[in-house]
Amino acid sequence: MNMINEKNIPFILVSLFLFIIIGFVGIFAGIHHHIKARSPDDFTIEKKELDSHFRLERKTNNAENYTLRIDTLLTEHETINESMLDWLQMKERQFLNRVDQHHNMLQEQQAQLHIAVDLNKVDANFYNITFRLKENIAGKRKKEVKTFNIDLIENKIVNLTDILNMEWGNLEKLLFIVKKQFKEKGKEWEKDYWLKWSLVYPEQLNWHINQNVLTFYESSSPYRKVEIPVQYLNFCLSDPIVERLNIQFFEGEAHALDPNGKYIALTFDDGPSPDVTPQVLEILKAYGAKATFFMLASQAEYHPELAKRVADEGHEIGNHTINHPNLAKLGKEQIRKEIEESSHIIENITGQSPVYFRPPYGIYNDAVAQIAFENSSPIILWSVDSLDWKHKNAENVKQLVLQGIAPGSIILLHDIHPTTADALSPVLEILHSYGYQFITVSELMILQELNGIGPYYSVTY
Ligand code: ZN
Repeated sequence: MNMINEKNIPFILVSLFLFIIIGFVGIFAGIHHHIKARSPDDFTIEKKELDSHFRLERKTNNAENYTLRIDTLLTEHETINESMLDWLQMKERQFLNRVDQHHNMLQEQQAQLHIAVDLNKVDANFYNITFRLKENIAGKRKKEVKTFNIDLIENKIVNLTDILNMEWGNLEKLLFIVKKQFKEKGKEWEKDYWLKWSLVYPEQLNWHINQNVLTFYESSSPYRKVEIPVQYLNFCLSDPIVERLNIQFFEGEAHALDPNGKYIALTFDDGPSPDVTPQVLEILKAYGAKATFFMLASQAEYHPELAKRVADEGHEIGNHTINHPNLAKLGKEQIRKEIEESSHIIENITGQSPVYFRPPYGIYNDAVAQIAFENSSPIILWSVDSLDWKHKNAENVKQLVLQGIAPGSIILLHDIHPTTADALSPVLEILHSYGYQFITVSELMILQELNGIGPYYSVTY
């Protein structure tokens, strides 16, 4: 049996003709496809091509005791569509369940579910789709927002973890910035749990990024959102997104020293340590701050890559002996070994030859001063002691540093205590707001043309 026999040909031609005519009508109406179809459930589905990437689908249903209107944007890629449809279907199911539960309360007023959709173009292949849900069931109103970020090159939903390096220290810093943004807008920030919680489960978080700001939305009403300028996010934005959006960060290190500026030197002793130093480096980077790390050569040998990273990120490396002995209790040859060998080890690992020397515990005698002098290594002590090693309490570190600070201060910290790293963001934030800039010991010395042997506790000017 052949379907295409002579009898069927006129019928096929007529069908084809009608199909073409209908197609033309569609084009004249400015819509490529505009199909109205009644499903058995009385749904209406309208479809509209928006551009080459997206089509809009509107589902409406006017039932006896509710109305429903759900807009969605669909792509050519099933995996992307599924994520969005899963969420929409869940919301619809939840709504219909609630309608069932409140059935006898819906006599006078119909329940309503409206889900609208916005399309935001970030670049030619990167889009943000934001759904805004409004629900009203017997006077109980609900609002919700849900975002999907779509990469049409890799054909996938972009997660927050794709654009942010979500280490623990970064999360704390991010929260700090978010709170600050809220305060600047005169808003209350009493409940940060939604963001904190969301950052632990970033796939739950609603966000949108463009060349200027990263926006977080609280998912439930009343659509609280916070916009963070991307300039603040140097420390955590991933390289691909920085490149993709062509984000240019201000260069913190480009400043020339101003004789009337407020400068201080942060110093970190006894590291590097893998638990704390990376976090310290990230925070310093975020503030465009440079610091001086008085390393132990033994620690640099344990963690050579980390020691090198400190130097590579533009910080100064100081000498703090090999094993942290009380030098006053050692003979001259041992003192010499601790100072000179340590310097060679650090130089071999980091490529930076330490200029300044800090004796362990700040304890030195004439023999130590003499050997430091012979090595052209000025002794650097401190004017502000954070006592971070003693209290191991971030709040305490913050208090002590802020109490003691003055232009020219040298601040003693240790990049081996997590509580020190925890204190660092708040301290830098506050000092930054006071107009302080954070420079290395060498820069502080250059500022005042100091080239003696010390010991220097601070550089007042
Ligand atoms: Zn020390």
